[in-house]
Amino acid sequence: MSRRKQKKWLNRIAYERMEILFNQAEKEFSKHPERSDRYVKLTRSISTRYNLTLPNYWRGRFCKNCDKFLKPGVNLRVRLSGNTISRKCLECGHLTRVPYTRKEDKS
Ligand SMILES: [Zn+2]
Repeated sequence: MSRRKQKKWLNRIAYERMEILFNQAEKEFSKHPERSDRYVKLTRSISTRYNLTLPNYWRGRFCKNCDKFLKPGVNLRVRLSGNTISRKCLECGHLTRVPYTRKEDKS
């Protein structure tokens, strides 16, 4: 029981760290993109170590293939075609396709 409690506590810290690292990556990107890449690597190693999934809004902000921090319009090309979002990393050319579910507005 106490072990589980401790793990939860650790997870929260890990989440906070990932959050800080990604915000930092975003901030540094225009001037020091190589630092942003480092932050991405750190974030990914945290998520692997603690077996955590990255927060939703940060998914797709880095390349799973080359570990670079991606910014739409800079080194990331996002395209919406039909029900699919395709993201192309312009650093290594890696392409990711994610099904896109549109929220129906019935009002
Ligand atoms: Zn890439």
